[in-house]
Amino acid sequence: MSSPERVELERQIVEEVRRFAEREVRPVAHDLEASDTYPTALVERMKEMGLFGAIVPEEYGGVGLSIQTYAAIIEEIARAWMSVSGIINSHLIMCYDILHGGTEEQRRTWLPRMAAGDRRGGIALSEPGAGSDLQAIRTTATRDGDWYVLNGTKLWVTNGLSGNTFAVLTKTDPAAEPRHRGISLFIVEKDQGPGFTVSRQIHKLGYRGIDTCEVVFDGYRVPAANLIGGREGVGFRQIMSGLEVGRINVAARGVGLAQAALDDAVRYAQQRETFGRPIWQHQAIQMKLAEMATRVEASRLLTRSAAERKDRGERCDMEAGMAKLFATETAEFCALESMRIHGGFGYTKEFDVERYYRDAPLLIIGEGTNEIQRTIIAKQLVDRNRTRR
Ligand SMILES: Cc1cc2nc3c(=O)[nH]c(=O)nc-3n(C[C@H](O)[C@H](O)[C@H](O)COP(=O)(O)OP(=O)(O)OC[C@H]3O[C@@H](n4cnc5c(N)ncnc54)[C@H](O)[C@@H]3O)c2cc1C
Repeated sequence: MSSPERVELERQIVEEVRRFAEREVRPVAHDLEASDTYPTALVERMKEMGLFGAIVPEEYGGVGLSIQTYAAIIEEIARAWMSVSGIINSHLIMCYDILHGGTEEQRRTWLPRMAAGDRRGGIALSEPGAGSDLQAIRTTATRDGDWYVLNGTKLWVTNGLSGNTFAVLTKTDPAAEPRHRGISLFIVEKDQGPGFTVSRQIHKLGYRGIDTCEVVFDGYRVPAANLIGGREGVGFRQIMSGLEVGRINVAARGVGLAQAALDDAVRYAQQRETFGRPIWQHQAIQMKLAEMATRVEASRLLTRSAAERKDRGERCDMEAGMAKLFATETAEFCALESMRIHGGFGYTKEFDVERYYRDAPLLIIGEGTNEIQRTIIAKQLVDRNRTRR
């Protein structure tokens, strides 16, 4: 149970991040997004604020926030510019995996530097032939004395260019059955010898200003000490646990983006007049605003509920899946409804709503598509309510 002082401190941190998002992120979002420029100055500020160690415990150099507070912070950042929240998402999934799956030595070696933002992380899981079906990965890690040798291609690595330390999912036993028993997770540092190439940067519809890359490993040597947890065959379980935090993050991004679309719509609906009155006074617009606001609030509560469960240390794949599914579909819904409310202006680069409309689909696809979330929810429903036959 958190003390009242701790609750107050975390509330103040959310306030501080809200001010940062409003005063520093929002004013530069349009131009940096349009030119697809990495927000280097914002990243420096995020380092100063300790955001790269947001959920890393204080004993390892972090701020030690609850997942609930973390979700609230991500919502504030995404409300200003969704891309920026992506910079810390995969970084913190990696921190989470080291914290909960790593050895004490790995925690002491990596977490303080990652929390300070000196080592900047990403997760290299997906491949050209394996996204939803992650157990079909083909990247191998072969033991060679005190080293493992990595070969394979990873796709969609967020922070691939700007980051320097990655959680890489590999097959240490490609023939293992069931397949997950052959999967292991490594801490892989860039530039520690030949064989690690960022082979291309992917150009995207939205989620711009942040790098998404293809990474090729060609005989890249990684110290055996970097095998997370020091044991082969547990990497799939480790990464799935981290992805629960990732899905709460994506849900929170959905809430922030949907809230931004709603905020803009409410403002515009009061300014724009047709047929002699502000458009919010037309019942058709009122229906839209009410529907958007209700879905945003429901998304926020689902996200908070999943985060609370994670904070209690309980399994929350179903709850994180529900939050991710509902909040990201809400983001897409609100982006389009806000565009409709803005009329022709909503379709121009002069208003942020066109950016929301391009950013929202990533949230539906990334961190496990919403089709996959539905399958997770259904499987858990049955697992938790088994009947005898
Ligand atoms: C901008 C961006 C950033 C990303 N960042 C990262 C990153 O940092 N690290 C990383 O590892 N990955 C990252 N990803 C990859 C992302 O997680 C995958 O794109 C996603 O999991 C889907 O995999 P896929 O693209 O291979 O689609 P596929 O798995 O090929 O799916 C294609 C379609 O089939 C559906 N489908 C597949 N299987 C099933 C099933 N069993 N039941 C129902 N429907 C199914 C999917 O929902 C989808 O609609 C990123 C992706 C994007 C676009």
